[in-house]
Amino acid sequence: MQGNKKQLINALKDSNEIAEAKRLKLHSEIAEQRAARLLRNAEAYRIRIDNETAEQHAARLQRDAEAKRLELDSETAEQHAARLQRDAEAKRLELDSETAEQHAARLQRDAGAKRLKLDSEIAEQRAARLLRNAEAYRIRIDNETAEQHAARLQRDAEAKRLELDSETAEQHAARLQRDAGAKRLKLDSETAEQHAARLQRDAGAKRLKLHSETAEQRAARLLSNAETYRSRIDNETAEQRAARLLSNAETYRSRIDNETAEQHAARLQRDAEAHRRLRRPTMQTNAIDLAHIDEKEIIEFYCAQMNERCEFCNSLNFMGERPPDKKFTACCHKGKIDLPEQDCPEYLETLMNGVDHNI
Ligand SMILES: [Zn+2]
Repeated sequence: MQGNKKQLINALKDSNEIAEAKRLKLHSEIAEQRAARLLRNAEAYRIRIDNETAEQHAARLQRDAEAKRLELDSETAEQHAARLQRDAEAKRLELDSETAEQHAARLQRDAGAKRLKLDSEIAEQRAARLLRNAEAYRIRIDNETAEQHAARLQRDAEAKRLELDSETAEQHAARLQRDAGAKRLKLDSETAEQHAARLQRDAGAKRLKLHSETAEQRAARLLSNAETYRSRIDNETAEQRAARLLSNAETYRSRIDNETAEQHAARLQRDAEAHRRLRRPTMQTNAIDLAHIDEKEIIEFYCAQMNERCEFCNSLNFMGERPPDKKFTACCHKGKIDLPEQDCPEYLETLMNGVDHNI
């Protein structure tokens, strides 16, 4: 027991003396000696790394990561800022001085390292990373100048174009599905304010886009819209068609209910004009129209069912023909015409009420 203690004290004394000697040596070395030492160390480090086994490699990476983590955890705000600046400067110097081969090799290394890191991260790490990225992105976007903003949009558009140009049919299909899923999730989770803000943003963006388009862009857009519409109509099922007509009728009814007196008058005039053109075509325009007409390009008109009853004379009318004051004109001129009861010939009455099945 006594012997062990003495050995321990001697060992400690030895290691203290070695450390002291090392310290003295470091303090007294001149610049050349220091450079030579650093070079020797770097060489020794390289050799050690080149010859390490897979386990040694993994253990070293883990030790380094742990040491780095400890260092980062304990640094002050100033040290943190200074480190970021040093790193950025070192990175800039490194990038500026690399050759084309080094550049290519670096990109490949970075891609490999990134892939490995992503492959091995757990769900929480992934979530934390995405959150950090989103936060960093938001800060960058919030602080960018007009030029940086424009340059970013252009870079993004270019990158997107390259990506789309080079994707396979499967990648294309997978992308559309991902996009739709992401969009659905985003819409499902937005608050009422976010919803309102989005609609306003979209409307603003649409307005800007329409205002700034050239005649060719406008023509291309209208053509594309017509094609999309035609394709949708061509491929819809009976239920989809019924739902579409109903939705159109509701939209129409809502628009009519909310139109002002001027909008109402303008609509009637438009309708009358369209009617006049249809009813009295010249021989020439008729021939041209028949040669070029494509029924699929005609947007279906639907004025809803004939089930709107006039409050004065009980006539049935189409919703699409109802004036803003909800008083019909075509039947009794808003109740101004009060015709006496008419005697109807028996034959006509039988035809109208459909009681006599023998006719
Ligand atoms: Zn009436």
